[in-house]
Amino acid sequence: MQTELKTVIWFETLSRGDVALVGGKNSSLGEMVQQLGAKGIQVPPGFATTSDAFREFIRANELNALIADTMEDLAAHKITLQEAGSSIRTAIVKGDWPEASRAAIVAAYHELSERSGHSDIPVAVRSSATAEDLPDASFAGQQETFLNVRGEAALLAACSRCYASLFTDRAITYRQIQGFDHNQVALSIGVQRMVRSDIGGSGVMFSIDTETGFDKVVLINAAWGLGENVVQGAVNPDEYMVYKPLLNQPDLVPIVEKTLGAKEKKMIYAGRTGGDIKNVPTSRAERASFVLNDAEILELGRQAATIEDHYGQPMDMEWAKDGETGELFIVQARPETVQSRADTGAMKSYTIKEAGPVILKGLSVGAAVAAGRICLIEHASDIDRFVDGAILVTSTTDPDWVPIMKRAAAIITDHGGRTSHAAIVSRELGLPAIVGTGIATHVLHDEQEVTVDCSGGDAGLIHAGIAEYEVEELRLDHVPETRTRIMLNLANPSAAFRWWRLPSEGVGLARMEFVVNSAVQVHPMALVNYDTLPDDEVKAQIAELTQAYDAKPEFFVETLARGLSRICAVAYPKPVIIRMSDFKTNEYAELLGGHAFEPKEENPMIGFRGASRYYSPRYREGFALECRAIKMLRETMGFDNAIVMIPFCRTPEEADRVLEVMAENGLARGENGLQVYVMGEIPSNVIRADEFAERFDGFSIGSNDLTQLTLGIDRDGEELADLFREDDPAVIWMIKTLIERAHAAGAKVGLCGQAPSNDPAFARLLVEAGIDTISVTPDSFLAVKTHVADAES
Ligand code: PEP
Ligand code: MG
Repeated sequence: MQTELKTVIWFETLSRGDVALVGGKNSSLGEMVQQLGAKGIQVPPGFATTSDAFREFIRANELNALIADTMEDLAAHKITLQEAGSSIRTAIVKGDWPEASRAAIVAAYHELSERSGHSDIPVAVRSSATAEDLPDASFAGQQETFLNVRGEAALLAACSRCYASLFTDRAITYRQIQGFDHNQVALSIGVQRMVRSDIGGSGVMFSIDTETGFDKVVLINAAWGLGENVVQGAVNPDEYMVYKPLLNQPDLVPIVEKTLGAKEKKMIYAGRTGGDIKNVPTSRAERASFVLNDAEILELGRQAATIEDHYGQPMDMEWAKDGETGELFIVQARPETVQSRADTGAMKSYTIKEAGPVILKGLSVGAAVAAGRICLIEHASDIDRFVDGAILVTSTTDPDWVPIMKRAAAIITDHGGRTSHAAIVSRELGLPAIVGTGIATHVLHDEQEVTVDCSGGDAGLIHAGIAEYEVEELRLDHVPETRTRIMLNLANPSAAFRWWRLPSEGVGLARMEFVVNSAVQVHPMALVNYDTLPDDEVKAQIAELTQAYDAKPEFFVETLARGLSRICAVAYPKPVIIRMSDFKTNEYAELLGGHAFEPKEENPMIGFRGASRYYSPRYREGFALECRAIKMLRETMGFDNAIVMIPFCRTPEEADRVLEVMAENGLARGENGLQVYVMGEIPSNVIRADEFAERFDGFSIGSNDLTQLTLGIDRDGEELADLFREDDPAVIWMIKTLIERAHAAGAKVGLCGQAPSNDPAFARLLVEAGIDTISVTPDSFLAVKTHVADAES
């Protein structure tokens, strides 16, 4: 058939070298069918029309002259862009198919139907422009896709409309800006068997983290029904992330993120026979459940890794799940274009200094901050109203919006996930964006001053008013080597990937309570005792948060394990020291449902805190959930680089009791390589260091509490702030003595308190005292590294 006219080429005979013939999208589908089928990648079968066929269509209908003349008239301002586009599109849609092309397309369609064992099967008809694969790649996808097309007549009509879509107003504008000749571009059509994702699900995935470029994870977005809603950002999809290096170990489940999306609607077939599609609202049950199960998430992760490996670069893919057979398909793959071109020698770090209240939240895109006035635009037809440099607020965006997105300082949308059009274009333009807020167009208004804050991880915050913020550039090209190992204190799991390029020796302190606060939000005892909770409103809130989980405590275990796993992932296989929860009672009480389970204390800082809670009947069951989360993290997910640390351990006898409770919960020190550290933050830890050293693998000095308790000064108080000095001789004595005694007993010692982060010169003193590791906040990492290198030489 393909010898006839070279109108049609089957995917299995195409490869990535055929871009000029069938465009980037179709050549890539062919490449995968040819090369990756044996490696488990399924691409729905189909064929592509060639760019020659397009040219033949234009020639046979004598459209070259029309196109050239219309463009000349447009350039001479004799007609408007809308008139130019519309007259060319109409001429194309009215054009006749050259007989040879028509016959070839129809024959291929029948063969495709036969291969599937049916007649007139539904197909997806996609455009693949042959000049599409150019630097501004996300501006690709400007041409149209038609889903659920059935029968010869409908297929040919869809094909003509694909051709016509090469002359949408935005495509013409785009070529004018880029300086492409309108008669040089061509279009290839991909005709592909429909995957029954209308009754399954579909979405987009990237083989790296889209926000940070972290190259060890796959990001997957998923929604019910056909995939267009995810691509366009018309729904807020589920978000999953898998950790690639552990994917091929059969017993592990390295899913480091699983967030339920609202999935407000789904795109389905409009009729059984007539073809076409429509959007319908999703059911309550659909909104409350994940589109993919764990096995499917892992399988897609593996497929993304396989495709990335094959192409030798980060990839951006669309996938679909057939609701009839349960099979997973890849329906598109193209190179990722933003992170793979980013400057890796430097990192910008944004810190909010002072900001108004948070008025709205969504998903953050990028890590930047921008402040300014809002310009709220509901319809693309109103884009003339846009004010340069304003913050664009809209429901969703599509390629028509790109011209004003380019002029915006930041973008806020109601709908869409991290792989939506708005997110992809914002990222490419280097703008902060907050997508999927749900209600931005209802609660924000024109001219309102706001700050768009993407500096804090997954959650993008919109603050009222113009905030004060700092931008710091960290250069990574000349980081000195040090013998003392410099680690990171990481708090927010959703921001952890930001720091993957820092050459740290792991994470010296991950405070579990921060993860509980940001991700879990519920007091563990309130989950254990959910049925008997007195407050109905609290129960309703907990029910909402835990809707995707069978048992309430599982929500705590899984959410905590996943939050911690993102911190472990950024360092793996280097160690990550996870400290069990160390809230004070007043802080635990603030967790959802917490008040019922916490005593009121005059001095929570020296109260029911740390080790004492873990074996107490008041919290023991809560601690058991913490232990289960660590077990899941280490054994189910595979992050065996996690080390456990016990905070505020007052006596060796307490240490024994805690270690016993841990062992009862499946975390015996030494088993499966589990190391257990203790904080060195109470004078008793120093005075009885040899006894603690017998019970633990190492110490990490908490200079914050150690200073508080050595000098007797409230660490948070303002009155005596001047006297609160970690370099006070008494505190220095404590630190040096602990290092000496621990080393004498064969235990390792690090420091994870705030002192060296606040004052990098403090690190010199630690080096001189022979410390093994220093753990600091990421923004001070380079300064500390430099001071340590100096001190060592
Ligand atoms: C410390 O006390 O120095 C420490 C690191 O722990 P936290 O600040 O969490 O009490
Ligand atoms: Mg402390």
